[in-house]
Amino acid sequence: MTAIGVFGGTFDPIHYGHLRTAFELLGALRLDEVRLVPAARPPHRGLPVCSAEQRLAMLRAAAAEQPGFVVDDREIRREGPSYSVTTLRELRAEAPARPLCLIVGMDAFLGLPQWHEWQALVELAHVVVARRPGWSAPTAGPLGELLAQCATDRVEDLHAAPAGRVYVCGVTQLEISSTALRDLIVAGHDPRYLLPDAVRAIIRGTGCYQSADTR
Ligand code: ATP
Repeated sequence: MTAIGVFGGTFDPIHYGHLRTAFELLGALRLDEVRLVPAARPPHRGLPVCSAEQRLAMLRAAAAEQPGFVVDDREIRREGPSYSVTTLRELRAEAPARPLCLIVGMDAFLGLPQWHEWQALVELAHVVVARRPGWSAPTAGPLGELLAQCATDRVEDLHAAPAGRVYVCGVTQLEISSTALRDLIVAGHDPRYLLPDAVRAIIRGTGCYQSADTR
């Protein structure tokens, strides 16, 4: 059975921290594809700086370089807040037995209990957590319990069931964030080598992130 990764985010803009994580997990977890799913209106944070169309264009430019990266624009096309649980339900309906791996960074994982219907997420997908510098795995609370019950370090377990396991893994630690990139651009610096040249060209061409209001 094929397995797919689902990597959601604001991607404002996409950078090598996202891309290297997706690339390493594509190989390490033997995924057939990683869906990059930009949120239209992320429920837990302020509105993105760049429009959905610009973020989508940057994602498409970045994903074009790598077979197995698929940009999935369903949250942009959908009305209302961009809930991951809705996306996972749609993907689950398309292939009831296919393993789904929801990919999150450790910082995002720590906020999981604030996500809409968070407990349903683990029934719909495995959760794959990429370590990030400065963030430790929880040992107590609802996420500590989740890890105690569902954690695995075996990739086979992610292929043996469609959902329900939590896999915490190391990826190359790249201390790059979209917030820091936006700040760098607005300060007049060049983001080169922190994101793909094709994305940099779009940022330059459109002038997005030029205003002081990048947060
Ligand atoms: P911002 O600074 O605007 O919060 P971000 O760089 O964290 O943005 P998001 O689009 O919010 O990017 O993140 C999408 C997902 O990618 C989240 O699960 C996040 O944890 C993960 N992620 C972001 N940056 C990295 C990185 N450098 N390494 C690994 N994972 C990352």
